[in-house]
Amino acid sequence: LGDARVITDPEGLRAFRDPFQFETWDDNTASAVLSPTTVEEIQEIVRIANRHRVPLWTHGQGRNNGYGGPAPRVRGSVIVSLRQMNRVLEIDPDLAYAVVEPGVRWFDLYEAIQAGGHRLMLSIADLGWGSVVGNTLDHGVTYAPYGVDMGMQCGMEVVLADGSVMRTGMGAMPGNRSWHLYKRGLGPTPDQLFMQSNFGIVTKMGVWLMPMPETYMPLWLRVWKDDDLAPMFETLRALMLNGTIRMVPQVMNTVLYGAVVAKRADFWTGEGPIPDDVLDRMGRELDIGRWLMRFALYEDEAVADVKFAKIKRRGVGHEVLARGHSGHREPGGEDPGRRAESGLEQHDRLVWRWGGRPHRLLAGGAADRPGRPGGARSVARDGAGRGPGLHRGAASRQRP
Ligand SMILES: Cc1cc2nc3c(=O)[nH]c(=O)nc-3n(C[C@H](O)[C@H](O)[C@H](O)COP(=O)(O)OP(=O)(O)OC[C@H]3O[C@@H](n4cnc5c(N)ncnc54)[C@H](O)[C@@H]3O)c2cc1C
Repeated sequence: LGDARVITDPEGLRAFRDPFQFETWDDNTASAVLSPTTVEEIQEIVRIANRHRVPLWTHGQGRNNGYGGPAPRVRGSVIVSLRQMNRVLEIDPDLAYAVVEPGVRWFDLYEAIQAGGHRLMLSIADLGWGSVVGNTLDHGVTYAPYGVDMGMQCGMEVVLADGSVMRTGMGAMPGNRSWHLYKRGLGPTPDQLFMQSNFGIVTKMGVWLMPMPETYMPLWLRVWKDDDLAPMFETLRALMLNGTIRMVPQVMNTVLYGAVVAKRADFWTGEGPIPDDVLDRMGRELDIGRWLMRFALYEDEAVADVKFAKIKRRGVGHEVLARGHSGHREPGGEDPGRRAESGLEQHDRLVWRWGGRPHRLLAGGAADRPGRPGGARSVARDGAGRGPGLHRGAASRQRP
């Protein structure tokens, strides 16, 4: 590989620890970091490691900081860092898929789609700095309709433990043009075998992209009491099973979302868990209730209207809050969660959390700020004066 792509000095190796691990711990320290750029180099690394019985640890980007980051589980392993294998190999705008190398980040794929002017959207994780392949192999969760169950991965190339190369599904036939279109067909489809496992190093992967919908409608469902959670899930289940909601909703409680938009000390400085009555007050003052579900519709505008009416009917007893239709770009606004949900690359969740005053999440969203287009107040207070009720607002109808 040459000196430039092999790290063995202690200082260089420290950069491949989890940045949040204790300074004095060396349990997860690697003995070397290798940065291959070709499949052939990976094959050779695997063969040599086999000969010398050296454990390997692979990462795409290794950005799951706080959970291990780029560090190996077994001390002394040799890291195979795929950060430099970061090419988007193909985007097919007609068949709506991309083929990526294992170091390609969500950022990179998003930028490649934008640069090509394709009307396609990507279902991304909350942080854009991780790799598409690493996230998929680790059973990651993304939020748009194609995020459900990582089912939109299609066709892999894998270097196996003996250094041979395997192509899954239709890829078993050299040059088959439907490798990234159809999961089964000619060859075996053991793609799951390479997820959350160490049976091979994935060197290419197909990922399906969603045609940009006519409209994106961000929605919230909110309840004010813990006991309302079970009925909320009954509603959610029915709406997901019948296809009304076809994305990955996020359900958050007062403490979880409160920690994103405020500080514990703003509400409670005592010892131990925050008491229930304080949580109730927190929910009211931050407008987030006791449980909050973030979800969205991605549809033709007329279909979104019908689905919204249906959700509202089924949501009896719960508040359903909408911001009206939006173009694809605008709704991400300043809320990083919404940016992820609307398929916009982002890495600013932490910046947003610490960046300023607590956000009035529902009653004062990004669209309400001065100077923003489509800035009509989208959620109005209900008659009882407690929190927002449903209001469709003067929606931004800008097309994606
Ligand atoms: C604040 C924060 C928010 C997050 N939000 C989300 C979220 O919304 N959704 C979500 O899913 N995750 C989320 N994560 C988790 C994490 O960021 C991502 O899952 C991760 O970044 C995925 O990309 P990576 O390249 O870092 O993965 P890596 O750490 O490189 O890889 C993940 C696993 O797959 C293996 N692997 C990687 N590449 C290969 C390969 N080519 N062949 C074989 N094995 C391989 C690695 O050994 C590792 O075990 C979040 C993390 C943080 C810190």
